[in-house]
Amino acid sequence: MEGRRFIVRGAVQGVGFRPFIYRLAHEENLAGWVKNTPQGVVIEVEGDTNNLSLFSERLKREKPPNAVIDDVQEATIPIVGKTEFKIIHSSESEPVTASILPDFAICSECEAEMNDPSNRRYRYPFINCTHCGPRYTIIRKLPYDRPYTSMAGFKMCAVCKAEYDNPLNRRFHAQPIACPDCGPQIELKDSQGSLLAERDDALQKTADAVRVGKIAAIKGLGGFHLIVDARSDTAVRLLRDRKHRRTKPFALMYPSLEALRIDCVVSDKEMRLLQSPASPIVLLKKKESSLISNLVAPANPYIGAMLPYTPLHVLLLQNMKFPVVATSGNRSNEPICIDEKDALEQLSDIADVFLVHNRPIDRRADDSIVRIMAGRETILRRARGYAPLPITIKIKAEKPLLAAGGHLKNTTALAVKNRLILSPHTGDLDTIEAITAHTAALDHLCNIYKVKPDTIACDAHSNYASTRMAKERGGSVIPVQHHYAHALSCMADNDLEGECLAVVWDGTGYGDDDTIWGGEFLKITDNGYHRAFHFLPFALPGGEQAIREPRRSALGVLYALGKTEDCNLPFTSAERTVLLQAMRKNLNCPITSSVGRLFDSVAAMLGLCPTSSFEGEAAMALEFAAENEICDKSCGFRIKDGIIDWRPMMLELIADRENAAIRFHNTLVEIILTVASQAGKRRVLLTGGCFQNKILLEKVVDSLEKAGFQPFWHHRIPSNDGGIAAGQVIAVLRSREYVSGNTGTNHQR
Ligand code: ZN
Ligand code: ZN
Ligand code: FE
Repeated sequence: MEGRRFIVRGAVQGVGFRPFIYRLAHEENLAGWVKNTPQGVVIEVEGDTNNLSLFSERLKREKPPNAVIDDVQEATIPIVGKTEFKIIHSSESEPVTASILPDFAICSECEAEMNDPSNRRYRYPFINCTHCGPRYTIIRKLPYDRPYTSMAGFKMCAVCKAEYDNPLNRRFHAQPIACPDCGPQIELKDSQGSLLAERDDALQKTADAVRVGKIAAIKGLGGFHLIVDARSDTAVRLLRDRKHRRTKPFALMYPSLEALRIDCVVSDKEMRLLQSPASPIVLLKKKESSLISNLVAPANPYIGAMLPYTPLHVLLLQNMKFPVVATSGNRSNEPICIDEKDALEQLSDIADVFLVHNRPIDRRADDSIVRIMAGRETILRRARGYAPLPITIKIKAEKPLLAAGGHLKNTTALAVKNRLILSPHTGDLDTIEAITAHTAALDHLCNIYKVKPDTIACDAHSNYASTRMAKERGGSVIPVQHHYAHALSCMADNDLEGECLAVVWDGTGYGDDDTIWGGEFLKITDNGYHRAFHFLPFALPGGEQAIREPRRSALGVLYALGKTEDCNLPFTSAERTVLLQAMRKNLNCPITSSVGRLFDSVAAMLGLCPTSSFEGEAAMALEFAAENEICDKSCGFRIKDGIIDWRPMMLELIADRENAAIRFHNTLVEIILTVASQAGKRRVLLTGGCFQNKILLEKVVDSLEKAGFQPFWHHRIPSNDGGIAAGQVIAVLRSREYVSGNTGTNHQR
């Protein structure tokens, strides 16, 4: 006989961990107890030494599917003659240190029950258990307990209550537990809000509507989707017209993995990702033989696809048996709708029918987007299934700290002690609705963790809406340079500290010299950075307008080359004259070192994308063109006084367009290798929106490794501006002012 205490740390609360321990203790004939504490799950057991060893082993090996064990501490304790095994309930007064879990996709056990005609939850669209179902999107405050969720309005029936109270049941303390007798229900409405059908009939009628080419708005887990038949050009075109979305790719949802394999190539890693509890949209290579409409992702060899992740989606897709477009239910540039009233107002001129339910969505969470690059998953949009799982950081936030993020693809962040909590993706802050959602995201992070931070980090661009909102909150506001924030987000993602070289390439970020940066090589020091190298700046005729019109960046590049005469860009001669004159007189022609704009320029010069309808369209077009070219050659460039002169490369690309797309990529790789050698740092960070480009990232990683460098890139935090908030937090934590306790209002360097 022997006694032992275990302390289990990690994401182990709210995933069925205590009932799992309860069952395990019974199976191994051990007495004692288990409880949730601020330190983690604590277990004290006594019994036969052999059984204790087995218990210890099985605890780690057989843990519930969504539990993440960071560490198990084991110690011997005296025997006190315990006789039974109990689950001790945690008290509400304990400080909030528990992690808030993201929403999880339906588990295989629930799916089997839902498809079993003899089960009492047969075809019930809200089936869930401790291994699956909503979490973040229904939580109003902590502790995670039913009265504090959006399930508060549903009174459990006796059968559900018995399951909820039974430690041996899979639904023991499953807060959103529900059944057809006591839980939420679905309804189908027309665009006027009149009831068309209820329960199973609503599902059938939704499927019928989509089958004949209609647009359905569907209330899901973290917001509404707009759904149409992905095989039908007419249906997809109708959605594009009504949503005013010209070419930006739509995501797809497939009824099954088998159906997905008909249209896409799926590797083992991609398959695991699609079937994971996070169930994100995965970017997959489209097959030539694909049956989906070309309008889903025009001129794009990839498809963003996901599998149904809620019981409601599973039932709907089972009925339809074909892939559907499942795009965020919002008007363009606005946040995803989460409530039925808003949806009926905002989407009434887009959707024909509305499939809704009465379980409120408290927090919005868009679908996450993930791409496998250089052999591992890289999150491009972090939302449902990932946020707000904390990222452990090495520097401790002695007092809570907020970050407002950037402008595009905005997310916000909160640091409490060693944990960095990144809100789900809010989107571009171009509309009042988006700015309101941004403020709500900040407030929610504070409310849920019951903190009132008096310091907030923001971008150094004083005109960003996120910066203005940060200033309106009151307290200390600490601006952080955009590319420094990118670099630190990459370091946090890779658990790095100390000095390294950061390659930060993106579209736009406010620089310390009041120009637009975006082609930066920053030497990261212990508490700041130094702009060691950067691309030769060039003029952007018309400023902001150049972001939407890559042909303007191209004209700026030609102007820098003195080659505007042989310009064959699609401008009228009047337009061209005006823009050239603007550059000569330096009128509304900000200069930039942006590599993103160089991508735009080359894409426009090659006639791939003279004007774009969404951010990154030209860069994507150039990446896709490079995929079809095989060539090892690169072009010339010069580096002098820390400035990378790309003009020799551009002259070569203009003179010889053959394989120009891949030669451009190859040259960028050469530039990084050359700078890395000159900078003399072994560790090289690859960050900023340009590194969402698979060809660029994989070629750079490969060349750096071969040359003896250690490259780091993104995994859990996006390399695009969705990662800015995370970097802002780290920038403040490592600044001297913060370390000395004086978080003044000045720019830390
Ligand atoms: Zn389940
Ligand atoms: Zn019930
Ligand atoms: Fe950026």
